[in-house]
Amino acid sequence: MSETLLQVEHLKKYYSLGKRWFGKSEQQVIKAVDDVSFSVLKGETFGLVGESGCGKSTAGRSILRLIEPTAGRVQFNGQDLTSLTPKELRLQRKDMQIVFQDPFSSLNPRHTVQRILEEPLIVHGVGNAKERRNLISRLIEVVGLSHSHLQRYPHQFSGGQRQRIGIARALSLQPKLIVADEPVSALDVSIQSQVINLLQDLQEEFGLTYIFIAHDLSVVKHICDRIAVMYLGRIVEISEKNRLYETPQHPYTKALFSAVPEPDPDIKTERIILQGEVPSPANAPVGCAFHTRCPMVMDICQTLRPELTETEPGHLTACHLFTGSDATGRAV
Ligand code: ADP
Ligand code: MG
Repeated sequence: MSETLLQVEHLKKYYSLGKRWFGKSEQQVIKAVDDVSFSVLKGETFGLVGESGCGKSTAGRSILRLIEPTAGRVQFNGQDLTSLTPKELRLQRKDMQIVFQDPFSSLNPRHTVQRILEEPLIVHGVGNAKERRNLISRLIEVVGLSHSHLQRYPHQFSGGQRQRIGIARALSLQPKLIVADEPVSALDVSIQSQVINLLQDLQEEFGLTYIFIAHDLSVVKHICDRIAVMYLGRIVEISEKNRLYETPQHPYTKALFSAVPEPDPDIKTERIILQGEVPSPANAPVGCAFHTRCPMVMDICQTLRPELTETEPGHLTACHLFTGSDATGRAV
C-alpha cells in the first residue's frame, strides 16, 4: 500500500457577499466548498469531477492555500499546511504546483517563455543564471517544445503549446504534487489527448502525484486511479476508477455517466437526464443537496443530509439508498 501524500479533512470555503434587498443590506453566504475530506496517495492521480460551479477550483486552490480556507485541515507530506506561517508556506509551495485551465490568462503576455519559466526559480533561489538556463533548456524539451521557443511570447503559440508552457512552469521547481485544474478543457479535442499523454509521461518520469480536475467523466477516464464526484460543494462519491465506471452508486454519478457517449452501441446504458439547473451554492437545498434533481428521491432526502459512507471497501457514497437509513432517518 502506497503512502498518503495529501490528507484533506473537513475543508470548507465560504464566501460572504453583502447584498442590498429593498434598501436593507443582507449577508449571503456562498458555500463553495462545504466539508470536503479525502486523501491522495503518493504517485496516484486523483480525479475531482463535477459540473461547473460545484467547487472544484475552490477546493484545489484552498488545498494549495492559494486562497485561505474557511475551515478544515490539509496535511501534506506529514505537515499541517493550514497552520504554517507565510514563510513556511512559501517553502512548501515548491512542492505543490498548479496548472490552470486557461494557459493564456495564466501566462504573462509581456514576458518571454524564458522569463516565465525562470521566474519561479528566481523566487525560490534555485541555482545561478547559468544553472537556471540549463534547467530551462531541459524543461522546455521535456514538455515537447524546443529551445527556439524560449525567446517567444505566449501569443505566438497555439493553445496546446501554451498549456505545455504552463506545465513546464509547474514542473520547474520539481514539485511532488500538481493540481491540474481542467488542464485540457480549453483545448481542441484533438490536442487534449496529447496533453494528457504528456502529463502521464511526466508523472512516470518525475514520480508526480496529481489532483486532476475535470467537469466530465470522459476526460478523467484514462488518467485517474481514483475519482471523487462533487456536487454543490460536497463530495457525493469516491471510488477506485474502474469500480466507479462499472458500478456507480450515487444517482448524480450515474447521471454524469449518462452524459458520456458510449462508444460501443451494444452496451445499453441507463440514461438519466437531469431535470433543472444546479441550485445556487448560496441557497443549497436542505437534506441531500441533490434531492431537487434526483430521479430516486425519497422523503428522507428532503430533510436529512446523507453522510459520505463506505459502502464497500474503498467505495464511499453519500446517498440514503446506500447508507442504511430507513425512510424515517433511523439507522436500520
Ligand atoms: P468549479 O471550479 O467547480 O466550476 P468554483 O470552485 O469555481 O467551481 O466555484 C464554486 C462556487 O463558488 C461557484 O458558485 C462560484 O460562483 C463561487 N465562487 C468562486 N469564487 C468566488 C469568489 N471569489 N467570491 C464569491 N463566490 C465565488
Ligand atoms: Mg473551475
